[in-house]
Amino acid sequence: AAKDQGRNRFSYFTPSLQTAALARLRMTNDLRVAIAEQHLQVYFQPIVDLHTGRIQKAEALVRWRHAQLGFISPMEFIPIAETSGLILAIGDLVFRESVKWVKQWRQDYHPDFQVSVNQSPMEFQGDQERYVNWIQYLADQNLPGQAIIVEITEGLLLDASHKITSKLLQFRDAGIQVALDDFGTGYSSLSYLKKFDIDYLKIDQSFIRNLAPDSSDIALSEAIIMMAHKLGLKVVAEGVETTQQSQLLEQAACDFAQGYLFAKPLPPEEFELLLQQQKASAS
Ligand code: C2E
Ligand code: MG
Ligand code: MG
Ligand code: MG
Repeated sequence: AAKDQGRNRFSYFTPSLQTAALARLRMTNDLRVAIAEQHLQVYFQPIVDLHTGRIQKAEALVRWRHAQLGFISPMEFIPIAETSGLILAIGDLVFRESVKWVKQWRQDYHPDFQVSVNQSPMEFQGDQERYVNWIQYLADQNLPGQAIIVEITEGLLLDASHKITSKLLQFRDAGIQVALDDFGTGYSSLSYLKKFDIDYLKIDQSFIRNLAPDSSDIALSEAIIMMAHKLGLKVVAEGVETTQQSQLLEQAACDFAQGYLFAKPLPPEEFELLLQQQKASAS
């Protein structure tokens, strides 16, 4: 019976595995073409200072509009970009686009404006030379490192290799800040917060979703915020969708918030309209 089952499983899985492998292969090829033909776009989502209500930063989020399939979620193509190595080209183009816009927004709206870019583990663990080039690119554009924040995930810090530490030092020396993305979803070993030089914790949206007075999630968020502040880190809440969530976070002394309540990720020209409105209402 076990043999039969094994055989059944084999014949059942083979075609779907093949289909999945073909789909991945096709997506990898399409992605390579999309990069070459500049079909990837960078959107920007506001990060709001909860004390002032003003947009202080933006997160750069990559978008792929496939000619036949329409928008494909980064959740789908980033993993494929990682395994194929295409993530490096994507990361470079997101970085350059972010630099272009942060330069303009610092000039026209806010001298301290920052854009935050995501780095997936494969990118961050790669060649140190790549970030030397980034830092040089910023200097060529007459921008300080402070214009850029790099978002990494907790998992990276678990294997506390020399490579990771030296990259974090490389960023710190250049003035580039570092944020820990999706905080709370990984192993959340708190010891590395003391050990590594991290500037921001981004509380994952899974904690924000069910925020309510007296809920366990608000208790957790308050504890994270308090701990972060004691260690000298600022906190960004992700996925804020309601005014109640925003108010609870403000009461908990959270520093920044990001989410659909303020705006969805937007093309740069639309994002800039928000900065224009803000400027108009302040004067
Ligand atoms: P992330 O870095 O945690 O980005 C936040 C995600 O939450 C974004 O999804 C954003 O659109 C979404 N979001 C923001 N506010 C809300 C809200 O109020 N409600 C809900 N339900 N969602 C909200 P997105 O753009 O689909 O990106 C998904 C993930 O893909 C990102 O998660 C990040 O890990 C990755 N990613 C996106 N762009 C890049 C990139 O340029 N490079 C790398 N390496 N990864 C990227
Ligand atoms: Mg992020
Ligand atoms: Mg996140
Ligand atoms: Mg620091």
